[in-house]
Amino acid sequence: KRLERLQKILAQAGVASRRKCEELIVAGQVEVNGEKVTELGAKADPATDVITVNGKPIRAEKKLYLMLNKPKGVITSANDPQGRKVVTDFLHGIQERVYPVGRLDYDTEGLLLLTNDGELANLLTHPRHHVPRTYLATVKGIPHGTSLEKLQKGIELEDGVTAPAEVEYYDVDTEKNEATITITITEGRNRQVRRMFEAIRHPVRKLKRIKFGDLTLQSLPRGKYRHLTQQEVQDLR
Ligand code: URA
Repeated sequence: KRLERLQKILAQAGVASRRKCEELIVAGQVEVNGEKVTELGAKADPATDVITVNGKPIRAEKKLYLMLNKPKGVITSANDPQGRKVVTDFLHGIQERVYPVGRLDYDTEGLLLLTNDGELANLLTHPRHHVPRTYLATVKGIPHGTSLEKLQKGIELEDGVTAPAEVEYYDVDTEKNEATITITITEGRNRQVRRMFEAIRHPVRKLKRIKFGDLTLQSLPRGKYRHLTQQEVQDLR
């Protein structure tokens, strides 16, 4: 919970000036979760508590939809009790509390969606929704076409056979003895891409997500974010 003084929440929601909001509280016109609050020291959580003035809910938080190019070495979480670097550390100038949609591993970089629209986040991460996610996986060794076909058809992992995937060579580097493969999966299992390549004995050296649904990372620099366009938000649903 992120508690803030009630008069501050009311003022930020555009109810009135902070001074006037204090008067509303003292006058008994403000309720939090159905309970009248009249002390000025009272706090509430603007994201989860239902706050009303004269029975009318205050304006809901503006919905934000952001795309971050997550660097590696960052935790996909809104906060970390141990103070390690988290994805929200990169959102300079964003007051609203946003949450990552799904997760990228600590060492995975690339496209991560963040929003305070919980409904959309649930929709997109629900297994039934099958949002295609595309990754560039740089792997040790140069996989045979037959190995990639296994990934394409579905491969047995400890938690079951994977759904069909799209798999293509992107680059082959014989000098470094590694290949970069484009892989599109529609499931979001834990460490799925890494486990799929482990299963064909080509461990992932570098992993970057470049697409999520219709969204593409394009040239967004590492560690930078941008707001989605209205069209992009519409296309997510
Ligand atoms: N698959 C993985 O293995 N790791 C990620 O971060 C995302 C997909």
